[in-house]
Amino acid sequence: MSSFYPCTDHLPDSAETHCDDCGWLGTISDVEMIQSAQQRLSAGETIPAGECPECGACAYLAEPTDPAPSTLEVINLAQATIERLTCIDPNKRASAQGTLDVIRVAIDKAEGGAS
Ligand SMILES: [Zn+2]
Repeated sequence: MSSFYPCTDHLPDSAETHCDDCGWLGTISDVEMIQSAQQRLSAGETIPAGECPECGACAYLAEPTDPAPSTLEVINLAQATIERLTCIDPNKRASAQGTLDVIRVAIDKAEGGAS
């Protein structure tokens, strides 16, 4: 193995990539194949996204950031909260569940009724 092209098929071409050596900033579609990967990579290190097109050093993807929770995750949290808060009184629970169902429908409409 003399050159190495990390699998980035799952990433969008616009994924932010940077070079710590020269400060280059770009996207994953700009980086080059890593030459002499055996000498340059070692187990346990962060796998570079590729080679910096400016200076040839290893370029890395931007640190992943916590994605915003999806609508579904928010709904599930609300559902869990309702179940915890209303477990004593079934009538209150039914009422709270009705409200949540209204919210679900509203969100579905807001998102264009997808899925
Ligand atoms: Zn560079």
